[in-house]
Amino acid sequence: MTLTNQAPQQCPKCGSSIKLVPAGVSKRTGKPYNAFYACSNRDCDYIFRQPSKQDKIVEALKQILKNQVAISQKIDKLAGSFEAFTLIFTKQDDPEGTSQDDTSEIS
Ligand SMILES: [Zn+2]
Repeated sequence: MTLTNQAPQQCPKCGSSIKLVPAGVSKRTGKPYNAFYACSNRDCDYIFRQPSKQDKIVEALKQILKNQVAISQKIDKLAGSFEAFTLIFTKQDDPEGTSQDDTSEIS
């Protein structure tokens, strides 16, 4: 979902004109609300709200989270190949487990 500040000129649902509803206090919940655009057609329920700062922050956080998932997936992939890489080297370094014998001689 992309947030936009632009209200449509016409209702995308029924094609009626869009009117600005000024900010006020909800009679139903008693909570203040920001100005929003609504369809002038009474039978239509289309409403356009300008994204608030909070909405924008949430949107930005979602984007960061998305990027983080992508990065962690890359790290997982890298870690997987690194594991395979070290396995090969451990085998070559110590083909018969001789390093254990070396340490027993010192002690
Ligand atoms: Zn409408």
